[in-house]
Amino acid sequence: MRPLIKSDMPRIAMFEADRVMSVIGPYCSLCERPLRDGPEIWDTARDAIIERIGNARVDSLLMLCVNCAGWQRRTAGSQAGLLLPDWGLTFRARGDSPYRYSLERVTVRIVDDNETVEEREDDAVIVSGSTPEAIATIERFRLNTPYYDAATKRMTIPRHDALTLADRRVVMRTEVWHDAADLLSFAGGPALHSLRSIIEAGGFWSVWLTLFAAVIPADDMLGRLFGLYPLSQLRGTSTRFLER
Ligand SMILES: [Zn+2]
Repeated sequence: MRPLIKSDMPRIAMFEADRVMSVIGPYCSLCERPLRDGPEIWDTARDAIIERIGNARVDSLLMLCVNCAGWQRRTAGSQAGLLLPDWGLTFRARGDSPYRYSLERVTVRIVDDNETVEEREDDAVIVSGSTPEAIATIERFRLNTPYYDAATKRMTIPRHDALTLADRRVVMRTEVWHDAADLLSFAGGPALHSLRSIIEAGGFWSVWLTLFAAVIPADDMLGRLFGLYPLSQLRGTSTRFLER
């Protein structure tokens, strides 16, 4: 989960969601997918999805995708006990990170009226938490989708959901993991500036950083690639991810 540092919202006329995205970039603040359509504004101070920013301060605002916002609505009531990207350090490139991302082999079952219509083994990038707050956040927003059962490493997806692509967060995260791994396997690798644009376009900053931190030993290089570059889409990134 990309750690955020916020500047003030610009005092110019913009659509509501655009005002927040101009501070923290066009990504879901929790699952990190790019917000191509229907971004929602979450006022964490009131634990409510809001239409108008009004007097709300940017400090309390985050952006959510349709799936994360759906779980916010179902579970609204308290944001206590969560680890959010603008409150505390959410991701550490080296050592023990509150949120961790790993490639797992899972059994995917597509079911119709509880009958299995398809079963296959597949890759899935799973987020796990190493603090009670991170674990609670993953659980509340079902950041591994509501289909995933960690105990059995199974994804049980109703056929209707599979056909309508109801919750693609893990699928998208896994695609980005494979893209990043493919890019890393090229001898020499792409130039820094082209890597940045690929990371910006694909989203899932933490997935990229998980893979790149393992092969880039120099912190300054990681900082240049993943850190604060205010004019890019990944604006608002806190360089605290380099803390050890
Ligand atoms: Zn999301």
